[in-house]
Amino acid sequence: MTYTSLQTKNPQDFAYQLNLAHLYGNLMNTYGDNGNVLMIKYVSEKLGAAMTVDIVSIDDPLDPDYYDLIFFGGGQDYEQSLVAKDLPSKRQAVDRFIQNDRVILAICGGFQLLGQYYIQSNGVKIDGIGVMGHYTLNQNNNRFIGDIKIHNEEFDEYYYGFENHQGRTFLSEDEKPLGKVVYGCGNNKEDQTEGVHYKNVFGSYFHGPILARNPQLAYRLVTTALRNKYGQDLDLPAYDDILKDEVAQEYADVKRKVDFDAS
Ligand code: GLN
Repeated sequence: MTYTSLQTKNPQDFAYQLNLAHLYGNLMNTYGDNGNVLMIKYVSEKLGAAMTVDIVSIDDPLDPDYYDLIFFGGGQDYEQSLVAKDLPSKRQAVDRFIQNDRVILAICGGFQLLGQYYIQSNGVKIDGIGVMGHYTLNQNNNRFIGDIKIHNEEFDEYYYGFENHQGRTFLSEDEKPLGKVVYGCGNNKEDQTEGVHYKNVFGSYFHGPILARNPQLAYRLVTTALRNKYGQDLDLPAYDDILKDEVAQEYADVKRKVDFDAS
């Protein structure tokens, strides 16, 4: 049964409303991926939008016209195999959502399952939902683990994160990477790509979670969702006005703590 896991207090005090489907949120949440949902809600509220988050899981209907954003987190192979069985029932809805330029953030296992197929570490192939062109192979007794930095040329932004995956993903011709690897392994440790950017779908191997460490990306996701819903010319506060100082302050606090611990 779909249930609301998070909701802005006093939504009547906000100018806008955004609805987020947290796809399989009870099964797919490795390494704090749920932090992305908290970050989306935080940035939404800063931009004047109340947010409702629903967990949409196995056997739950997904209404592609009601939701403004989808978040699909990462998972272990076992959880992924359960989710893969239910995904065909949501294929049409997710496809419509993507074709309507709605915003999706998919991490690791979620990113893999939006594609054609995923080969588990034990060699068993499970079908993805097939709404995007990428596919994921396995590797022999190895995982890609560690800190990673990428550069997105289109936005000229750097993103930082932590990856932990055995899957090796290869993009299709109509898919751009989320970024080019500066250091780390990325999609497959061969072609320097990391993640995917296709229409308004953003996929990545970054846990950590990606949006808490890369607030520019959170801002991009939420402003895109708001303009999809309320009009492309919707006037919204600039990133620098709502997040830049806050992030700078947070870094200053962390640095002070690190300096203190080191002294
Ligand atoms: N099970 C997948 C892999 O190992 C995804 C892992 C994850 O979501 N962290 O590649």
